[in-house]
Amino acid sequence: MAKLYPSGTLQGVIPLLIAKKRDGGELSRAEIEQIVLGYVRGEVPDYQVAAWLMACYLQGLSDAETLALTEIMAASGEQLDLSAIDAPTLDKHSTGGVGDKTSLVLVPLLAAGGVAIAKMSGRGLGFTGGTVDKLESIPGYRTELTAQQMLAQVQRIGCCLAGQSASLAPADKLLYALRDATATVESIPLIAASIMSKKLAGGARHILLDVKVGAGAFMTTRERAEQLAQTLVRIGEGAGRRTHAVLTDMSQPLGYTVGNALEVREAIETLRPDLPSHPRFEALVLALAGQAFALCGLEPDAERGRARAERLLRHGDALEKFRQMVEAQGGEPRVVDELSLLPRAPIVAEWVAPESGYVAEVAPRTVALAALQLGAGRQKKEDAIDPAVGVEVLKSVGDPVQAGEPVFRIHARTEASLQQAMATLQGALRVSETPVPAQAVLLD
Ligand code: URA
Repeated sequence: MAKLYPSGTLQGVIPLLIAKKRDGGELSRAEIEQIVLGYVRGEVPDYQVAAWLMACYLQGLSDAETLALTEIMAASGEQLDLSAIDAPTLDKHSTGGVGDKTSLVLVPLLAAGGVAIAKMSGRGLGFTGGTVDKLESIPGYRTELTAQQMLAQVQRIGCCLAGQSASLAPADKLLYALRDATATVESIPLIAASIMSKKLAGGARHILLDVKVGAGAFMTTRERAEQLAQTLVRIGEGAGRRTHAVLTDMSQPLGYTVGNALEVREAIETLRPDLPSHPRFEALVLALAGQAFALCGLEPDAERGRARAERLLRHGDALEKFRQMVEAQGGEPRVVDELSLLPRAPIVAEWVAPESGYVAEVAPRTVALAALQLGAGRQKKEDAIDPAVGVEVLKSVGDPVQAGEPVFRIHARTEASLQQAMATLQGALRVSETPVPAQAVLLD
């Protein structure tokens, strides 16, 4: 067979590296650089990188290879320099789930307690919502900030919550698109390297990871979630960042809202000392905040960190920080006091329980699908979303329920989308005749 490339050229070397990985060998940092940076420069073609990714998927990566890949991807674009900030810097990442609005509460809460956070988030795709989409339901809120703007805002008020800069870890963006097209996304080292490349480029010295487990998460089994958490922590520590991971439950929607403005409303309710919060959501926020304060050395342990977080919520400091952040990013700060300033859907209808008993399951992906059908999410990257629509989930696993009692409240733009969501939600609820234990949100 004719050789496509002469053996002395980069493309001629790449098949040897693919073969080494295919046969279970370990690539050096320099060899991984040849593939990844060659790809970013357009010198190594898609098909060679796709073959290497499949070899990585099938053979796995050693810790050294995973760390090298992560650091190469992190260094492939702009990196935030937070060294001028006096306070401890922290970045937080959730592997994503249904109704996960944690960053909206956690970022201002930690900033109110003395942690500096320049948080970059993504948009939603498929069944997961994106923090950037949620924030954009606040009238005027700007999610596009330059690195200089982020740094200036963090120096001034302690936090920012913005979209991810296109120039952050461009190698990850290219590799992710290729993984998506070649059935190589679900490899733990590749997922971990992808997540951590963006965290390392974000510049924070401390990294807190919320690894979700369950039907509404990327990782549906505890075993894979533990593997991912351990790989993420090894990369973070290997790169010289203090890193901690928490496993949390995603077997039912988080909190009581799924949909952009609805989730902002719930986040503000959680921040407001005068309004009730969803107990599972608040428990998660306080647990993560406790870990973060301890990780940053502001409290001796997570228990005292949690108590500090609780004070900041109860006294309204976290709410005040959220207001400052909204104002700093051009948003309407009055939304904090007047929730009616958030976008509202014209049709609101209830879905009621067909039978009495105890809630045994609220299927997160089915609720997410209903929200998607209402227009709250996007199937393709370029789709527009409707900030006002979504689903309120009025029952959690373990709750008693009576026939005819509302279980979901649907916020719809049109009668047709309401009917579609109503039909989808038929499959979301499972009721048991016998009592069902409530599920803790914190697993490990
Ligand atoms: N999230 C990421 O950023 N990358 C992955 O590969 C998977 C989830």
